[in-house]
Amino acid sequence: MHKVDVCSRSGGFDQTVEVIVVGAGACGLIAALRAASEGAEVLILERDSSPSGSTSLSSGFIPAGGTRFQKPAGESADSAEEFAKDIQAKSHGQSLHSHVQLACENIAGAMEWLADEYSVPWIVLDDFLYPGHRFHRMHAVPEKTGEALQARLLAAVQQQQIPVATESRVTTLYTDAASTGEGNSGATNVAAFNSNGQRITGVEITRPDGQHESIGCEALVLACNGYGGNQGMVERYIPEIANGLYFGHPGNTGDAVVWGEQLRAELEHLSGYQGHGSVAHPHGMLISWALMMEGGIQVNLQGKRFSNEHGGYSEQAVNVLAQTDQLVWNIYDDRIHRFAEGFPDYLQACNAGAIKSADSIEALASITGVPSGELNNTLRAVDDYRSNDSVDPFGRGFGGDKPLHAPWYAVKVTGALFHTQGGLVLDDQCRVRNTDGTVMQNLFAGGGAACGVSGPEVSGYLSGNGLLTAVAYGYVAGGAAAICVRDGGSANRGQA
Ligand SMILES: Cc1cc2nc3c(=O)[nH]c(=O)nc-3n(C[C@H](O)[C@H](O)[C@H](O)COP(=O)(O)OP(=O)(O)OC[C@H]3O[C@@H](n4cnc5c(N)ncnc54)[C@H](O)[C@@H]3O)c2cc1C
Repeated sequence: MHKVDVCSRSGGFDQTVEVIVVGAGACGLIAALRAASEGAEVLILERDSSPSGSTSLSSGFIPAGGTRFQKPAGESADSAEEFAKDIQAKSHGQSLHSHVQLACENIAGAMEWLADEYSVPWIVLDDFLYPGHRFHRMHAVPEKTGEALQARLLAAVQQQQIPVATESRVTTLYTDAASTGEGNSGATNVAAFNSNGQRITGVEITRPDGQHESIGCEALVLACNGYGGNQGMVERYIPEIANGLYFGHPGNTGDAVVWGEQLRAELEHLSGYQGHGSVAHPHGMLISWALMMEGGIQVNLQGKRFSNEHGGYSEQAVNVLAQTDQLVWNIYDDRIHRFAEGFPDYLQACNAGAIKSADSIEALASITGVPSGELNNTLRAVDDYRSNDSVDPFGRGFGGDKPLHAPWYAVKVTGALFHTQGGLVLDDQCRVRNTDGTVMQNLFAGGGAACGVSGPEVSGYLSGNGLLTAVAYGYVAGGAAAICVRDGGSANRGQA
């Protein structure tokens, strides 16, 4: 793994551009589109040979409150304010208030701008609600995959002739500040820099063959996601998920956090993350949580339920990993199976043979290896909760669910880390804040590189918080970076 660091340098670069964007996932592509639309010369630097990021791996569902696309779904009452309330309710008020505001106040505008300027054809998923969302506000491209979302954004970038330099991993940020020589920033043992008034002057990229190149810039946007792909950082900041599967993009190795530490930037909620309690094992495919929201249950290898499945899929990662062999079964019926067939990733799991079915509970027990008697008891108890004969000890309200019956379906799943939520703290223009209260005038961040809106705990993640900040912050950061270039970056220099 290449060393990532910060060095002093003021000129003599191999080339210069106005705005550099690091990372070509949703955040970077949107930041680049916005900066270019405001007249800036932009270069995207991406470490992979073909840009994909976690964005391609995702389901591509982007929550936005108050868009015009929600109106046909009858959700005119949704707004930035209502969305912000749901985000804070999920994290018990622990999300950074300013970041929630920044995301919620900009996401609807960003989505409409992408539709109007780049013909991204948003649809709204109006057939079920993810835990914690009171409105149908999940937007997606018609293919309903992150891969298609990424492809559409990349096509827009190519159409605008914005260059994407691939196989260009940014390894060094250059600053005009002198090193204080103090070293040891927590993750690294390198020089730290005096943040007050410092500016980013450029970056160094490292090619796969070890060649280096320096590129100067007037503004820099960090869109290189978080540290899910850096096992050492996960162990340090989120030990509870360190033994779980990492299901995000391996190239997200925490570079923004390492640079932030050296630059004395403010970092928050490094223990926050998006987990998921339903990744097919051993196939490694996401099984939509819609199965649980539609009435499915999870049982462990002993055939017992172990949690409230409607609490949220993120915190369910930890609950699942606490079970024997870190494995459990999703149990549901034919009605839910047919509903789930509307999700491309579920169809993939069917094709891969991950989904089992049986005509009786006994046959299901035999296929899954779960004790038949206990599985019977569990399903009978769920029937009782549904008919209000008894109360679920885990607190799930089964009242509105339809009864489950044969034919039965099951899929073996494990818990996983999808992406980290901690990162750089931003001001209302997505400029990186320093620990001394000043801001970096020409350093911007968004998506998983920035502190998210989920607070410090896994349970704070409301579905869609990941792409929310990738899209909204990318949109704001790109616009602000272009303005910074236009103004020579001198406005309010050093002020918070
Ligand atoms: C299976 C799965 C399903 C998900 N589903 C959803 C969903 O439906 N809705 C939702 O909101 N969120 C979802 N998420 C989370 C979501 O994918 C991320 O939050 C989002 O994609 C982050 O976007 P980004 O642009 O910040 O990062 P990415 O898309 O990961 O892009 C970062 C890019 O930066 C590059 N990079 C990293 N370091 C460097 C460097 N030093 N130099 C150059 N390039 C670098 C990487 O190669 C990568 O291409 C899901 C995640 C997973 C794993």
